[in-house]
Amino acid sequence: MITNIPGYPRIGSQRELKKACESYWTGKISLERLELTARQLRKENWTFLQAAGIDLIPSNDFSYYDQILDMCVTLGIIPARFQALRATFANPNCPELYFALARGYQKNNFDITALEMTKWFDTNYHYMVPEFEAAQEYQLYQPKCVAEFKEALSLGITTKPVLPGPVTLMLCGKIKDAELSYPQLLEKLLPVYIQLLEALQQAGANWVQLDEPFLVTDLDPAVSDLYHRAYSAIRQALPQLNVLLTTYFGGLEDNTVLALQLPVKALHIDLVRAPEQLDTILPILPEDKWLSLGVVDGRNIWKNDYAQSLALIEKAVNKIGTERLLLGTSCSLLHVPYNLDLETALDPGIRQWMAFAQQKVAEVMDLKQIAAGDLSPLADNQSAMISRKTSAAIHIPAVKARMADIRNVDMQRHSIFPHRQVLQQSVLQLPLFPTTTIGSFPQTTEIRQLRADLKKGVITEETYQADIRQAITETIYRQESLGLDVLVHGEFERNDMVEYFGEQLDGFVFTQNGWVQSYGSRCVKPPIIFGDVQRPAPMTVAWSRYAQSLTTKPVKGMLTGPITILQWSFVRNDQPRMQTAFQLALAIRDEVKDLEDAGITIIQVDEPALREGLPLRQAQRAAYLVEAVKAFRLAVSTVDDATQIHTHMCYAEFNDIIEHIAAMDADVITIETSRSQMELLEAFAHFSYPNETGPGVYDIHSPRVPTVAEMEGLLDKAAQLLPVRNIWVNPDCGLKTRKWPETEQALLNMVVAARNMRSKK
Ligand code: GLN
Ligand code: ZN
Repeated sequence: MITNIPGYPRIGSQRELKKACESYWTGKISLERLELTARQLRKENWTFLQAAGIDLIPSNDFSYYDQILDMCVTLGIIPARFQALRATFANPNCPELYFALARGYQKNNFDITALEMTKWFDTNYHYMVPEFEAAQEYQLYQPKCVAEFKEALSLGITTKPVLPGPVTLMLCGKIKDAELSYPQLLEKLLPVYIQLLEALQQAGANWVQLDEPFLVTDLDPAVSDLYHRAYSAIRQALPQLNVLLTTYFGGLEDNTVLALQLPVKALHIDLVRAPEQLDTILPILPEDKWLSLGVVDGRNIWKNDYAQSLALIEKAVNKIGTERLLLGTSCSLLHVPYNLDLETALDPGIRQWMAFAQQKVAEVMDLKQIAAGDLSPLADNQSAMISRKTSAAIHIPAVKARMADIRNVDMQRHSIFPHRQVLQQSVLQLPLFPTTTIGSFPQTTEIRQLRADLKKGVITEETYQADIRQAITETIYRQESLGLDVLVHGEFERNDMVEYFGEQLDGFVFTQNGWVQSYGSRCVKPPIIFGDVQRPAPMTVAWSRYAQSLTTKPVKGMLTGPITILQWSFVRNDQPRMQTAFQLALAIRDEVKDLEDAGITIIQVDEPALREGLPLRQAQRAAYLVEAVKAFRLAVSTVDDATQIHTHMCYAEFNDIIEHIAAMDADVITIETSRSQMELLEAFAHFSYPNETGPGVYDIHSPRVPTVAEMEGLLDKAAQLLPVRNIWVNPDCGLKTRKWPETEQALLNMVVAARNMRSKK
């Protein structure tokens, strides 16, 4: 049995690559220094994997920014807007161009926008979206995958280069010119792809991994032809090359036959997300095809259950023997942190249930050993599994009892919206076009310093509390003098909208070094939900009560919703995700109730990640949305009719999910719309969305101050689409990344725009 790792983290266990890239961008280090760091990181990975005994060691899984962007530069998929800039460089594929594609270029009289960035399937990793134009000529230029293969070879390590497959590369990009069709594009790309594979083979590569995760999604029938065409051409040109067609993040389902027909040496499947596909594939696996079993989870941080994996491996061995079998992780380990050994502060009782990238590699080796008959690693693994199943830290009877007791009425407000709207208006007495913000106000260096000082013990809890109160006080007065109608406390006490709550809930732990690349040099350290969730004490009530005590205007209570907390954490895998979401919902529900009891009349529960949780397959989406909406409703439906529930969502497309958004039944939803010129609102209008809506009137991602006229223009548009009494006026999202001067000016203009709208009515 051959062991196979589809990809390894690259940012560095101490985020060395992040730091080196950022220093290079600001001119603090030279290109040579950056390259040295990169070479060291690659060497560390390769030598580690070699020492561990892995057979198929990935190369070209390294990237300065993103592996899809690497491929664009390798093949010359470069938008026309970069051509003039490119012509100024002696080396047409120099890092300057590469980073310009990634980050935009505003220097030397150029002002070029970066490639778009979007989420890689259902992960929190963002890739750069290729732009295919009809006039592009593709051509290889100093391909990085060949260089990295040779670099490893010079260290005595023969690696398996990893590349995005041709069809996935096309489908994850955008065709910019209507006259360019996919078949035409493929015909243009294939010769360079083949040239690239030839170069790899010539350099000594026996195996090449081509990633085709689109095979686990719903495919248009025409895409099958693209797959056949691409892989037949590759086979024809390179009959000796062992192509490892790699799928992950789900099951092949209706694409199984297609995947098995493609003329490649081996197929990799994800048996963590879709273990059942093994039963479909084994009986019809062609006799000459090898199968790579992805049994160790590349998407989560839990220890592998060897007994479970072994059952899968044995099934495969019994059917096709060991000769044609590969064994590895379900997908690239890019999505998990480096090394659990660095987590010295984690409770050892909880740590023993986990495995990060390094440990997962060892698991693959263990499984190979066990499958070969040496059962010695089994006992330890089994005792860890048993300790997890029976742990009192994980399984809290009170939480389970409460979960069993959830009734439909708990997910329903007392009255229907029109009735609530009247009651709320009589309490709140808001004008037409009421103005508000999304929650956070500028996180200045002083504010960040305060939180850091508290953590380090430089200041006392009392000093910290007093200083945050001071910031809240100033912010409330600023909002009052700006003339805003519904105020917020500013979220100064929060480092992050998920971590802040996780730290106060039972069932969460946090790592010191559990960094995962999100995009480019940006890394996140997701909280880990290990056990039953409950809220031991109020989390936000004191701050909200204090803020409300300063003003007669309503101050919104501000919470993060259950789906967003779920989506941005590593989630336990010993119960269905939605069960964890419902536990989170119960905890938020307790907080909502306490806020209401403290006299807070408006409570906002943010769900920006609701859409991110959508399953890859259409057939599973409605079920997810129904459950996600229930979780939200469970969190908020405890309040009286007169208490107004808000929610907020950003980065969203709403067309295909509007009925579910409506089913959330929030009294008010604020959404990001300004960059799309209110186009996103059309879904709401078309659906006759019944509740109140705050379409964002300005983009908070840039310091630019919007004019009164442009915001009024957007509100005019909104007023044509929605009933006037249902429209709120607010920015697109929270203001934490902005500075105060532009924030005040923008909000002042926003308030004037709202007043102008009122006087028109
Ligand atoms: N209330 C949060 C804030 O204003 C919402 C952030 C978000 O939508 N991502 O920062
Ligand atoms: Zn937002």
